[in-house]
Amino acid sequence: MTAIVVGEKEDDIAEALTVARQAGDVAVLAFGDSSPQALAEYGHKVYHLTASDPESVFTALRKLYDDLKPLLVVAPTTKNLKDALSRLAGIYDIPMATEVYDVKVGQGSVSYRRGFLSGRAIESDEAPMPAVLLLAAHKNPKASKAGQKAEVVELQTAQGRVKSVERMPKQKGGTNIEAAEIIVSAGRGFRSKEDLKLAFDLADVLGAQIGCSRPIAADLKWLSEDHWVGLSGHKVAPKLYIAIGISGAPQHLAGITDAKLVVAINNDKSAPIFKNCDYGVVADLYQFVPLLTKRLKERLKR
Ligand SMILES: Cc1cc2nc3c(=O)[nH]c(=O)nc-3n(C[C@H](O)[C@H](O)[C@H](O)COP(=O)(O)OP(=O)(O)OC[C@H]3O[C@@H](n4cnc5c(N)ncnc54)[C@H](O)[C@@H]3O)c2cc1C
Repeated sequence: MTAIVVGEKEDDIAEALTVARQAGDVAVLAFGDSSPQALAEYGHKVYHLTASDPESVFTALRKLYDDLKPLLVVAPTTKNLKDALSRLAGIYDIPMATEVYDVKVGQGSVSYRRGFLSGRAIESDEAPMPAVLLLAAHKNPKASKAGQKAEVVELQTAQGRVKSVERMPKQKGGTNIEAAEIIVSAGRGFRSKEDLKLAFDLADVLGAQIGCSRPIAADLKWLSEDHWVGLSGHKVAPKLYIAIGISGAPQHLAGITDAKLVVAINNDKSAPIFKNCDYGVVADLYQFVPLLTKRLKERLKR
């Protein structure tokens, strides 16, 4: 049996390897900024692609899939990989599931749990193999490295059917909030765009990324959509999520179900966010946040 692991970040690939190793031989398709030499230390042959756009990843994966005929393709659940891997699953008419964990490979089938309704509910599934599994973030243990390095094969980027005509940096943002370890998130409790400085100052002290609720990005356009957390925004999994002036609507909460620790600051003690946080501070953000930033600054200086 063979499995293919697809990914860019070493941590994601290490988690996918634990799942894929159950299927037997594993090949790794690593793309973009990944370090193929570091990945080779896990003991599986690494096919490395410098490009990272979904079209190039799909084209390389399709070729590898045809060559190896794997029983499993395992990857992290990211937007780009959902795009590339759903095309593969569609073309070969094989099952695909996202946000999976607790994977067990059996004879001819694979069982797993997965979050659905944006992680607010869990289901247990069994699917025939071959299958494509995109893993939930941080819910699968990481594989250990092997004693020796495996072979690395550099792949040429093959021209897919979609051609990139032009690429340009985004004007704002550049934020990868899905990967952030600490997020300071702003909601409608802020009265103006200028006032967001309070959140930025706190984020600065904590080395955090800035997140926001939908109205801040979609309606008021005070921040770019890179920062938008929730059902229709980004699903995040930080170690610490600080929600400031956010009421805690179900659509916002859907984006933070994987946050390890949620702290809410809100001046309305009946705000729903207080039923969905680990620590709640009932306070006016305009008084509390500058004070918190000041205290943290003092403490971190010591
Ligand atoms: C299909 C659909 C998809 C959606 N997707 C998303 C999504 O992905 N993400 C998302 O966030 N929303 C989403 N929404 C919108 C969601 O329903 C809420 O409207 C939104 O989350 C509310 O944002 P908010 O908490 O910032 O604002 P509000 O609900 O207006 O809350 C503001 C909070 O700030 C508090 N506050 C006010 N002044 C202060 C102060 N001085 N100090 C401290 N606290 C203060 C208030 O008590 C209040 O709780 C979606 C809605 C729909 C219908």
